[in-house]
Amino acid sequence: MVQTKPMPKSDSQTVIARCRQLAAVSEMPHGTFRTFLSPAMKRCYEIVSEWMKNAGMAVRVDDAGNLRGLRAGVQPGKRTLVMGSHLDTVRDAGAFDGILGVMMAIAVAESCKGSQVPFDIEVIGFSEEEGVRFGVPFIGSRALAGLLDEQTLQRSDSAGITIAQAIRNFGLEPRHIPAVAVGTALGYIEFHIEQGPVLEAAGEAVGIVESIAGQNHATVKFIGSANHAGTTPMRLRRDALTAAAEWIIVVERCARSTPGLVATTGKIDALPGVSNVIAAEVTLSLDVRHAADDARVGAYDAMRGAATEIAARRGLLLQWEDSLSLRTVRMDPMLTEELEGASPPGVRRMVSGAGHDAMIIAPHIPSTMLFLRTPGGISHHPAENVLPEDVELALQIGRRFVESLSARSSRS
Ligand SMILES: [Zn+2]
Repeated sequence: MVQTKPMPKSDSQTVIARCRQLAAVSEMPHGTFRTFLSPAMKRCYEIVSEWMKNAGMAVRVDDAGNLRGLRAGVQPGKRTLVMGSHLDTVRDAGAFDGILGVMMAIAVAESCKGSQVPFDIEVIGFSEEEGVRFGVPFIGSRALAGLLDEQTLQRSDSAGITIAQAIRNFGLEPRHIPAVAVGTALGYIEFHIEQGPVLEAAGEAVGIVESIAGQNHATVKFIGSANHAGTTPMRLRRDALTAAAEWIIVVERCARSTPGLVATTGKIDALPGVSNVIAAEVTLSLDVRHAADDARVGAYDAMRGAATEIAARRGLLLQWEDSLSLRTVRMDPMLTEELEGASPPGVRRMVSGAGHDAMIIAPHIPSTMLFLRTPGGISHHPAENVLPEDVELALQIGRRFVESLSARSSRS
């Protein structure tokens, strides 16, 4: 029997209290950390399952490890409305990234008790979105979209356990993953914290995500030669680190001069990494994002061209590996309009710079997404927070959204 805390009064208080309770279900002693199908995730599933059952749902874990609660509608055969987000976290995470969307979905589904919703509502807590354990994100939502392939299932964690083995260890069957895919559905809605400063700066509680920005990632390597820091004249050096430094500034300048473009060189390793030796080899990460695919790809190509030019001029070799390329994903126009109609007048439409499960789901199921203001813009950090009044408003929007879909669905 799972112990749950007594129910506070309002739905928003319940949602926030549940997020805080789950933050303590963790792989680290002080702080929040839950990865794909870990023992902490199992405990999390036990607790959330109880809440789903109390909300009148039939609960199961699918073969990609997603926790799924199904609330039957009053008209059998109507297509399903899917609501959800992810239950995994980064290391030393906050209480709300992902989890909030699942807790809100349960609360919205529960509030439909007794009302005549014609379609089924399925709440999904995705097993993996952050990419922490296997270095590959969106395991749960990719399975739902029918995109979790055999090659991905063979990826290992730091202990050498593959995704397929982790699934088996949890008592699930990776061979059944194709059956996890949702063929057709009425739609998918995800509530998520913004994880950025835009809504707070504008004094707005919620925003409607119109599209999720595409991303290009690369691993970039400058190869020069190591030599003595004291005896090698400057003009005879092939210094990989100064080349990298020059390129980093070019990347920043390009992003600053292109409206809407963000580019980050967040990781750098220099070899041999010794204070009195010229760096022979420098490896950097590049992450480029923009809502418009052509602007993003154009900038990415220009950054690659600049790296090639810098390397050639300095007598270095350049190795460039494209590691991720995701197109911008637009949310469904009709569902987005429906969500706008359920929101207060003048609600902002915005682009998400961060990837979300909706990005994977949207090409397969009509999708929409609501952002909640993130105090201080702080996320992926224990100080991550939400305002109770924002959660209350978002729950009202969620309920009105289900009502208006019900009305439309009953007419059709
Ligand atoms: Zn998230």
